[in-house]
Amino acid sequence: MEDKDFLENIEDLENENGSGEQESGLTRSGENAGSQDKRGEDEEKEYDRFCFLCHRPESQTGKLISLGQGIAICPECMQKTMDTIQNGNIDFSKLQGINMINLSDLQNMMPRQQKVKKKKTKEEKAAEPAFDIRKIPAPHKIKGQLDEYVIGQDYAKKVISVAVYNHYKRVATGTQDDIEIEKSNILMIGPTGSGKTYLVKTLARLLDVPLAIADATSLTEAGYIGDDIESVVSKLLAAADNDVEKAERGIVFIDEIDKIAKKKDTHHRDVSGESVQQGLLKLLEGAEVEVPVGASSKNAMVPLTTVNTRNILFICGGAFPNLENVIKERLNQKSSMGFQADLKDKYDNDPNLLSKVTVEDLRNFGMIPEFLGRLPVICTLDRLTKDMLVRILKEPKNAILKQYQKLLALDEVQLTFDDGALEAIAEKALERDTGARALRAIIEEFMLDIMYEIPKDDNIGRVTITREYIEHRGGPLIAMRGVLKLEEHETAAQG
Ligand code: ADP
Repeated sequence: MEDKDFLENIEDLENENGSGEQESGLTRSGENAGSQDKRGEDEEKEYDRFCFLCHRPESQTGKLISLGQGIAICPECMQKTMDTIQNGNIDFSKLQGINMINLSDLQNMMPRQQKVKKKKTKEEKAAEPAFDIRKIPAPHKIKGQLDEYVIGQDYAKKVISVAVYNHYKRVATGTQDDIEIEKSNILMIGPTGSGKTYLVKTLARLLDVPLAIADATSLTEAGYIGDDIESVVSKLLAAADNDVEKAERGIVFIDEIDKIAKKKDTHHRDVSGESVQQGLLKLLEGAEVEVPVGASSKNAMVPLTTVNTRNILFICGGAFPNLENVIKERLNQKSSMGFQADLKDKYDNDPNLLSKVTVEDLRNFGMIPEFLGRLPVICTLDRLTKDMLVRILKEPKNAILKQYQKLLALDEVQLTFDDGALEAIAEKALERDTGARALRAIIEEFMLDIMYEIPKDDNIGRVTITREYIEHRGGPLIAMRGVLKLEEHETAAQG
């Protein structure tokens, strides 16, 4: 709104106030005034209120902010008014005689998650040690630490360790010299539950950088129902405690990226597929974006701040369900020509088909070339095998079994799983085809009974879970405390 309009409106407000008060002074008295008030209230309930400045109804503008004396304005006009005042374009001498809004009150009303941390001054920045190259762990160290948590997926861990190492080297060197290191955003392709999210989460924790996880399916082109594309950066900002500088070195993981593939044969405007890829381009490459603080979409009451995405590492992940067929088609085409033509079903049961992916395959899948160009590092994760699932159960630092063992140890009960039981759990998980995600659900099912029954009896010293128990053909093996003591004596004596 123009400043002039604003001032005119303020003048109107002044006039109306004056005359309004005179009128009420003449007519209101005793009961009459009371009944008028009540009628006013009733009317207010029945009718939509209007914004005093833009005259749009409350149903359109969102909840109006009441300024007293029957005047209310919509959040958008409130924001514009505040902007005008902050820009200093108002002649305050003209505003004398009316009650101004106390802006500091509004500041206090703002929820804490919407406040942005102040940027550091140049002196403060100079005093603070710069992002130190020597502090970035070398790739083999990053991989070594990932190994403690993530089972298998060696190739992906290696690729990611190197990419991350290079990325933070790039952040540390800045752009002082002529050779600018290009950004190494990563595309991760792997079946559901193979550890994509887990890998990124572990990585962010090890590097101690903020991480935001967003779902590509919820993103839409700005202006449509869904989250704006910039909302991924606001999430990162929230993860960094609204510290812009910290967020600018963080990691954004965009999951389900395959769901924004270009839709084939569609006559509608593709607001959630190709347009989202287009929208992500500038974020991936590095741009100054204005993001809402503490909300997923821009609106008048949400403060905005600028975040530069140049040094944010973007990792996109997806299961790309039909990609294997695309790869197979390409390979079959190649091998069916010439004298050395192979059998057509050569690749049908190839477990490593996904690792043969090329940029061309991804383009055929529906990703646009510009988008792929900004994700120079591609890594694939393997489908988890039975052996890997068994290892996931017991080996990682915070393995599920270790968690249950710790829980029962608090009741002074030992929990053990025999090998058959672990295999049975892995087999069940394979049937569900959701990777390692199924493991917890399966274990939780039968551990419920154990966790319920064991504390009933103080004499129980050890519970052994067997294959029979998992397959509902028998119960767990229970050993009493007395028996355990005897065993201990025996082993001590033998030793
Ligand atoms: P997705 O690939 O679908 O993103 P997740 O990373 O969410 O799968 O995996 C789900 C859960 O399975 C994780 O929280 C983790 O506990 C477990 N998991 C999956 N893969 C592995 C793995 N390779 N090593 C250890 N745990 C894993």
